[in-house]
Amino acid sequence: MNAEKLLEQMHGLKSVFDEKEGELTGLDREIGDGDHGVNMKRGFSAVNEKVGSGSTQEILKQTGMTLMSSIGGASGPLYGFSFVKMSEVAKEEINGDNLIELLEVFDRTVAEKGKVEGGEKTMYDVISKSADLLRDKGSLSLEDLQQLAEETKDMIATKGRAAYFKEKSKGTIDPGAQSAVYIIHALGAGVEK
Ligand code: ADP
Ligand code: MG
Ligand code: MG
Repeated sequence: MNAEKLLEQMHGLKSVFDEKEGELTGLDREIGDGDHGVNMKRGFSAVNEKVGSGSTQEILKQTGMTLMSSIGGASGPLYGFSFVKMSEVAKEEINGDNLIELLEVFDRTVAEKGKVEGGEKTMYDVISKSADLLRDKGSLSLEDLQQLAEETKDMIATKGRAAYFKEKSKGTIDPGAQSAVYIIHALGAGVEK
């Protein structure tokens, strides 16, 4: 994936989150405060408006800065800071090996910033398994990523607002795990290992 394709993918997430706003808000209404759809839509509308052409590094950095400043809520700094950190390892042509590096940085950044581990029913459950998915399957399909999000359904949340729901958080996919499916799918478009 070159810079032009990456920019197209980041801009394209606006229409993805326009379409998925209701789904994400619905999930966040079950185990949160019902704003995750609005948050993601606002964030990527701003990316669509403000991020222009540049190198892959510049595009990822600008995307991160824009997400940090436009998304209120826990997901803004986690996604925003992750894009900034991913920008630091991006090559001008993001191939399979480079994407694995990016996803490993995504994993480490969310783990550190969110103080989160696997199994806590968050976006991290999708992010942390995506590099292995790419390694094992050779590409990042929506079906395989969705399967990772589905696995959060039976988990009990111990981080973020969903943690207040304790046992009752069971039975709902984590909203951030669901938005991470779309973000990682966009990053993986056309990239094969
Ligand atoms: P808020 O909870 O502030 O309203 P959002 O609704 O936009 O923010 O985002 C909620 C999502 O953020 C959750 O579904 C979860 O995936 C993610 N999240 C919250 N806290 C953490 C954390 N400490 N580590 C990783 N992810 C987290
Ligand atoms: Mg919320
Ligand atoms: Mg909120």
